[in-house]
Amino acid sequence: MSALAAAVQLGHEQVSFHQEPDADYTAIVAIHSSVLGPAVGGTRLLSYPSLDDALLDALRLSRGMTYKNAAAGLPLGGAKAVILGDSRRPDRERLFRAHGRNVERFGGRFITAEDVGTSAEDVAIIGRETRHVRGFGGLGSPSPWTARGVCRAIQAAAHERWGSDSLAGRTVALQGCGQVGARLAGLLAAAGARLLVSDTEPRLVEAVVRELDATVVESAAIYDARADVFAPCALGAVLDDRTIPRLRVEIVAGAANNQLLDDRHGRLLEERGILYAPDFIANAGGVISSAAGLLGWQHARVVEHIDGIYDSILAVFERARRDRVPASEAADRLAEARLEACRRALTASRPPY
Ligand code: NAD
Repeated sequence: MSALAAAVQLGHEQVSFHQEPDADYTAIVAIHSSVLGPAVGGTRLLSYPSLDDALLDALRLSRGMTYKNAAAGLPLGGAKAVILGDSRRPDRERLFRAHGRNVERFGGRFITAEDVGTSAEDVAIIGRETRHVRGFGGLGSPSPWTARGVCRAIQAAAHERWGSDSLAGRTVALQGCGQVGARLAGLLAAAGARLLVSDTEPRLVEAVVRELDATVVESAAIYDARADVFAPCALGAVLDDRTIPRLRVEIVAGAANNQLLDDRHGRLLEERGILYAPDFIANAGGVISSAAGLLGWQHARVVEHIDGIYDSILAVFERARRDRVPASEAADRLAEARLEACRRALTASRPPY
């Protein structure tokens, strides 16, 4: 399918291409939906093999943002910007000023933030040209918030599977001891779980082992670990035809984005009797905390909203049962239902033609 046909099929509101030759600036901005509110999404700076690859990435990621925000109950839509180029380019001021001018042209319909290949400093440069950027706000890095939400998702899955959300004595196989994984490990240990941990970076895994009395598992062997829960907190697309048959767990719930290589892998997990807490609902803590500044939410409201991930995950399982579909599909349906309800309300409030 061509990238343009994909944009039509995925239901994008607006996809635009921007150039400022003087700044060597070439970018794509994909606004998937602004039905629920201003479309938010990070700006990536990345070299892609082709323009079509860049466009497809922007399309897929912006739709992901719409679904994540909708499922998290945020009054925000989904977008993504992709700037084509080497992420180590030195001429940041010129480049991100150009991007800032571009973001400003959307008049607040698109609000951006840092993402792969861009930093807080780059976001500050964008902010010299537009106020439609957001940093971490007063709540600091999103990672601890993401970890908190993932922990709630694991507890909800435990409730669904074992009738109790207690993790005492349960074993969790954790892939990735980075910003989110290490914090999640701390929360799980505090909840009484035993930890099997892996990371390709020995320094990070050793820190978790020292602090939490966890057991190290070779990175390549984490899929074979006998445990109650597998928590992918490293990379996306880790659940595929090769890894799913190896899993020896009853629950998969983690922080990584786009854990399923393909939609059909949600069904494969179900066929293996493994309960899957859909990633974009489980890992929404970060996006909720980042949106707080934009929405004027205080600390207590953010905590309450993130803890609500527990109920959102239970609602997904309920919907999956009702519609007889895998949890991954039920999560999409829940997000789509919220969008559709809002779209209908908007249409009803418009004067007739
Ligand atoms: P991070 O880069 O800090 O941590 C990822 C860790 O995974 C690194 O320590 C890396 O060494 C390790 N790793 C890479 N390949 C591995 C492998 N094959 N086996 C084991 N470990 C491996 O990233 P993060 O911020 O902790 O995010 C983790 C995941 O969660 C990412 O997929 C990210 O997109 C997603 N996510 C993060 C947030 C957030 O708030 N940071 C929010 C939503 C989703």
